[in-house]
Amino acid sequence: MVANLFKLHSREWDTEKIESLFPSLVPKILSIKPSKQGAPDRRIWLKNTAGVYSTKTGYYSALEDRENQESILQQQQFNWIRDVWTLPTAEKIKVFIWKASLDALPVNANLANRQIILKPDCAICGESESILHLCFLYPFAQRVWDRVPFASSFRAAAHDSFGAGWRALQDNICLPPVGLGQRILAPWVIWNLWTARNYCIFQDIGFSEQETITKAIGDACEWVNAQSIIPPSHPRE
Ligand SMILES: [Zn+2]
Repeated sequence: MVANLFKLHSREWDTEKIESLFPSLVPKILSIKPSKQGAPDRRIWLKNTAGVYSTKTGYYSALEDRENQESILQQQQFNWIRDVWTLPTAEKIKVFIWKASLDALPVNANLANRQIILKPDCAICGESESILHLCFLYPFAQRVWDRVPFASSFRAAAHDSFGAGWRALQDNICLPPVGLGQRILAPWVIWNLWTARNYCIFQDIGFSEQETITKAIGDACEWVNAQSIIPPSHPRE
């Protein structure tokens, strides 16, 4: 009992006893101030003024922790304006990239996490289907990326998060004859990896790597032509 760690007939910590029983916890235990009046112990929840736990403050507290860790990481590296909202691409794809960056796409790993489906397995290769898997790690995706004529090589499997892979794509230029400059083709490749996956799962229609990249290039060219403006070679900020 806590009371056994006090000096006899007092409410002061018996430091010697604590040191011999819990050597690793000494500073922690000594930092707790025992009540002089002998008030009974009780738990206090620090997140609201009444000191009583509520689901609402518990939720916000959990959210704070997660946001702190994630947003520090992301803000250091991920530029939402540049990497998502000013992409020279269709609005639907900007929203899609935004969702992918926040791990908010209904890939099997996320559905299994929410217990909507039983297994997180990729329908094709059997590994856990995360967004990173779908866009970069999945061998099919790697072979699609290998077919993009980038000026400097892009190794899809070298990335450990969707954001890292996506940022690595931002500076890559597409060589002729595909052309299309910087930042135009990659969003359509990601989009077509996603739609190819959905065709496979929901309509049992399979696309080859070549069909997928050809469709992505076709879509990108069509979109550029529809803008009837010269695509910006640098981000508009
Ligand atoms: Zn797979």
